[in-house]
Amino acid sequence: MLEPDLVLILNCGSSSLKFAVLDPESGKEFLCGQANALGGTTAKLVWRYRAQNETQQLDRDDDYTTVIRILVDRFDRQWSELRERLLAIGHRVVHGGELFASSVLIDEEVLSAIRSCCELAPLHNPVALEGIQAALAAFPQVSQVAVFDTAFHQSMPDYAYLYALPYRLYQQHHIRRYGMHGSSHRYISERTAQLLRKPVPEINVISAHLGNGASIAAIKGGQSVDTSMGLTPLEGLVMGTRCGDLDPGLLLYLGRTLNYSLDEIEQLLNRESGMRGLSELSNDCRALEQAAEGGHTGARLALEVFCYRLAKYIAAYTIPLHQVTALVFTGGIGENSAWVRTRTTDWLNGHAYQLDPALNEKIRFGAEGRISRQNTPEVLVIPTREEWVIARDAAQLALGAA
Ligand code: AMP
Repeated sequence: MLEPDLVLILNCGSSSLKFAVLDPESGKEFLCGQANALGGTTAKLVWRYRAQNETQQLDRDDDYTTVIRILVDRFDRQWSELRERLLAIGHRVVHGGELFASSVLIDEEVLSAIRSCCELAPLHNPVALEGIQAALAAFPQVSQVAVFDTAFHQSMPDYAYLYALPYRLYQQHHIRRYGMHGSSHRYISERTAQLLRKPVPEINVISAHLGNGASIAAIKGGQSVDTSMGLTPLEGLVMGTRCGDLDPGLLLYLGRTLNYSLDEIEQLLNRESGMRGLSELSNDCRALEQAAEGGHTGARLALEVFCYRLAKYIAAYTIPLHQVTALVFTGGIGENSAWVRTRTTDWLNGHAYQLDPALNEKIRFGAEGRISRQNTPEVLVIPTREEWVIARDAAQLALGAA
């Protein structure tokens, strides 16, 4: 029998469960898939194994526990060669509050600490817990590790993470900025160091993770010193459907003057705003680029606001970093949209950023590399590998515990 060497990654989102089996050494993926639209009539499980895509319909009342049972059954019947090789299970957990500054092996104490962070991420932490409990029951012999989206940003100094609110709200209710996308930003900092052949402690990186959710981080010598998401993922950049930074007075106006309920405000800011709200067309950057080319004014406006706000954040992050070694684009938009990269860096001419148009067109669709001209500040594109970060942490902790 082979030595266990693979990691199963489980990522329970608000209505989806993504999973993958990876080799933590090489990053090679043996299996990946997701259960989509959980709780709805169109719920289904899709996966890719040995270069074949497969689908299984799910019932409307199939929850995370049921999906994990279905996965266990597949591991027994179809993916048994992978099951035998499972060294660890890595769970993505959105919010670790101030309790976790790194990944941890899961035990009873960790479970109750994750539970205590539920009110900070009510849509995410409870479902992550459900996934963890189901996986503990299904794979009792395999080490299980929690990897937190917030952990990487625990290095932020207090002047960066505090809101200018009465201090007691921080002390009593832990209200502060936490940041998200930590595994992605950490990967970007480490991969940038490899590409530039410099040690991580010697480089300062601005990492722009631009996907349907978007955040940017200032990373000094491998430590996050500021990031754009806050207590929740709503703060910061313009996103697909989230508003990003707002005047908080606007919430009062929506409630008092326009009679919005709290639920309506939540829906508006999370699901109806961002590029979707501005364009009145779509949250999808690629669709917006096509529409803008065809003369759609709303699409053009949404993209302009997105890039302008992003450029302001990039300029602001020269403050904590002093000297920026590289600006890195990642996430679905950052990895693929030459237009967004051009428009954003155009705003930053005062910072001497200059893209090489041919490289900018070329480095897309999974390619990695420099897109700025020679002898100008480094601008890189790096496809993010959050699952690989989770797999590496899980394997390291499992081997350490063995
Ligand atoms: P993610 O959440 O990281 O999967 O990123 C999703 C976003 O990436 C969506 O807004 C997509 O439209 C965008 N995206 C993916 N491919 C492209 C592309 N070729 N050009 C522009 N945007 C893209």
